[in-house]
Amino acid sequence: MLIIPCPHCGPRPENEFRYSGEAHVVRPADPETLDDAALAELLYMRSNPKGRHAERWRHIHGCGWFFNCIRDTVTDRIERTYPAGTAP
Ligand SMILES: [Zn+2]
Repeated sequence: MLIIPCPHCGPRPENEFRYSGEAHVVRPADPETLDDAALAELLYMRSNPKGRHAERWRHIHGCGWFFNCIRDTVTDRIERTYPAGTAP
């Protein structure tokens, strides 16, 4: 089982968490101005890298906070976690 270090609670088993997608997705201030292709790109296209990846997680069965995680998608090794809204 993967042990994920919540920045607020410390290390906990992965079944306490929920994956919430890619971290640091920049959303436009005026999304109503996007055409359909740009809106589809914003909503559905993610990087999906093989290797180091910045992810957003939520400690759903703990503190409930969202946080970011740098994880290697090949080895599942977690490099570090940090509070949401902070730089990687
Ligand atoms: Zn927590």
